[in-house]
Amino acid sequence: PADSPPAWLAGLNDPQREAVMTTEGPVLMLAGAGTGKTAALTARLAYMIREGLAWPSQILCVTFTNRAAKEMRHRVGELIGDAVEGMPWLGTFHSICAKMLRRHAELVGLEANYTIIDMDDQQRLLKQLIAENGIDEKRFPARELARLIDRWKNRGLNPGDLDAIENEAYANGQGLRMYRQYQDRLIALNACDFGDLLLHVLNIFRNSRDVLEQYQERFKYVMVDEYQDTNGVQYLWLRLLAQSRKNICVVGDDDQSIYSWRGAEVANILRFEKDFPGAKVIRLEQNYRSTPHILGAASGLIAENSQRLGKTLWTEFDGGDQVRVIGVWDAPEEARRLGEEIERLEREGAPLDEIAILVRAQYQTREFEDRFIQIGLNYRIIGGFRFYERAEIRDALAYLRVIAQPQDDLAFERIYNQPKRGLGAKTLEKMHQHSRRVGQPLAAAALDLADTDELPARAKNTVIALMGDFLRWREMSETIPPSELLRTVLEESGYSQMLQADRSSESAGRIENLTELARAMEEYQNLGEFLEHVSLVMDNDATGDEEKITIMTMHAAKGLEFNHVFLPGWEEGVFPSQRALDEGGLASLEEERRLAYVAITRAKRRCTILHASNRRIYGQWTSSIPSRFIQELPEVHIQQETTLTGGASLWRANWSEQEDPFANVAQNRPDRAGNRGPGWQRALTSGYDSAPKRLKESGRSAASFAAKPRTDIKIGDRVFHDKFGYGEVMGQEGNRLEIEFDNTGRKRLLDSFVKLA
Ligand code: ATP
Ligand code: MG
Repeated sequence: PADSPPAWLAGLNDPQREAVMTTEGPVLMLAGAGTGKTAALTARLAYMIREGLAWPSQILCVTFTNRAAKEMRHRVGELIGDAVEGMPWLGTFHSICAKMLRRHAELVGLEANYTIIDMDDQQRLLKQLIAENGIDEKRFPARELARLIDRWKNRGLNPGDLDAIENEAYANGQGLRMYRQYQDRLIALNACDFGDLLLHVLNIFRNSRDVLEQYQERFKYVMVDEYQDTNGVQYLWLRLLAQSRKNICVVGDDDQSIYSWRGAEVANILRFEKDFPGAKVIRLEQNYRSTPHILGAASGLIAENSQRLGKTLWTEFDGGDQVRVIGVWDAPEEARRLGEEIERLEREGAPLDEIAILVRAQYQTREFEDRFIQIGLNYRIIGGFRFYERAEIRDALAYLRVIAQPQDDLAFERIYNQPKRGLGAKTLEKMHQHSRRVGQPLAAAALDLADTDELPARAKNTVIALMGDFLRWREMSETIPPSELLRTVLEESGYSQMLQADRSSESAGRIENLTELARAMEEYQNLGEFLEHVSLVMDNDATGDEEKITIMTMHAAKGLEFNHVFLPGWEEGVFPSQRALDEGGLASLEEERRLAYVAITRAKRRCTILHASNRRIYGQWTSSIPSRFIQELPEVHIQQETTLTGGASLWRANWSEQEDPFANVAQNRPDRAGNRGPGWQRALTSGYDSAPKRLKESGRSAASFAAKPRTDIKIGDRVFHDKFGYGEVMGQEGNRLEIEFDNTGRKRLLDSFVKLA
């Protein structure tokens, strides 16, 4: 259209507007925090649609979180009116790839209804494989293998790409073999992990030119926010997609690169100009978010880093408070103090939604949770003890997964005996053994087994009943909405009853959580759609309408902003983290410093840093040193405060009475915030689901079974069975044998359970 640009474009500054209007060719927007990169990207998207340069479905736009995608969708709608129908390709790398993979699953050996497994499932699967390979999991933990495999996937490497390159040292060089087995097993389960979403699609692009060309053709424009945190596989994926049209605009800040531990490579920014010659580089310097003191503190801090491109930031705002640095006695006091500060803000009329507590590590949140529950402050935790990770939610989802996808062994294993049905580890062993032998999913193997005498009569009946239930639920799932299906399943499986019978204090909360899950499902018409949504929003919010303060990790806070930001735990060993200190390298320390920069620059009005002098770490009270990052904040921008309240000095008096500061007495000091008694250990095991999970894992035998070829058995042979003893084969039908045992009579058994005598 020839009419003048819309009014909202006039609200942007010159370089922002340039970024918006330069729609053709490669563009790199490189700028510091709060300079309006995301705002410009959003305007650009709106502009393209409004100008008719492309249909919404022809624009690929990658955000770092699902929440950011939602926000952007909403903003674009605001800018150009609700004319935007869907923007199907606006989302995270993972959600976009999940959608692509559904369309082309068969090209990598999956079916379109594949399951996306989470880290918990991944660990269980790896543990099984490790045991099957006779590797000692204690020496070579599954966690380590998972990290190694993720690293390869993050770099876009398949097992086949690795032969010639490297075989890193998991279990003396067995990593690659395990990787291959893991991938095979996933395909057999019709499942993939998070890393696979990208890797599979990259493989499809590499191997099927026509599919790639179809997408290159479709996407007239490609845009990426938070580009500094893309990893290798994401980079390769983007490059392929944008290669033909070269209309790609990426936005980033090297000072905010905080995901190198997940394979992100800040070098991707530097590589951009090489890959896309003639790229227009746009720099933004005006910060619209924070007050001068907040900006000054953050800029002073990040200037300590040696590895950065360097940039200037300025703001038109003046006034505002200095960044406050508050020293407290110990962690409980930190929580108490925080509570007080927040209540004060509340009295001053600050909305709770505008207050955030950003922590370095997940475990820090518990202290605050305890305190806030005590004083009745509404809070939400983003990331961390996430809704979808709670045991009861996982159980419910596992039922739904088995209904949607009978091959989903991991889900089946989770609930085949939950609630307790008398199917123990023995039964599971049998199911595994048989499933492996016949190459069928566990559920099918279970049914197969139930048709023989391998299982005790009671277990047989239970299995048959359970499989009958699943069959019925599966049929139902085609006619009733997912939320109703869930309610039915919880009732009929006995799960609800189990919770109701449970008198523990947690069970009421569990029931509420399940009710909430059903509520969340009401938005979905189709079970598969809901399950996909769940796997993709694991990093997302539990949305409620009430005003709440937000507690989240600094990592998760990227891109967000709040009027008031609290940053507790700025002590050596907490932040910078012990891991970063142990690694000792400059790179890891600089990444921690970038994280500090991200954290401070989330604040619009006020930023408060706290540090405690004493902290209990793994049950031991240790005195802590303020973080070096506090020292690095320019003095003019900060205001130091130390509080030793009555309670704290009392504790200090007690403390100094101890001749040996590590005496057990000190360890057993009551925890004023949470009354949690034994403290740390308890805190670790009383997580929403960690204890039952661990019990479950340790109770499960992961013995490996060697499958023997069974062409060796014929009628008349003498055989031996562990339980029934010696006998003679009387009949043979497929893999079933009819055996007359010397002492126990005639039985029907699966051939994999007998030995030739
Ligand atoms: P980060 O690096 O933290 O992701 P960013 O560069 O993406 O930050 P935005 O979140 O886009 O910055 O913008 C920061 C704040 O400044 C937002 O509140 C946004 O609405 C506001 N803002 C952006 N551009 C302008 C502008 N031209 N005029 C006024 N306010 C603006
Ligand atoms: Mg941004």
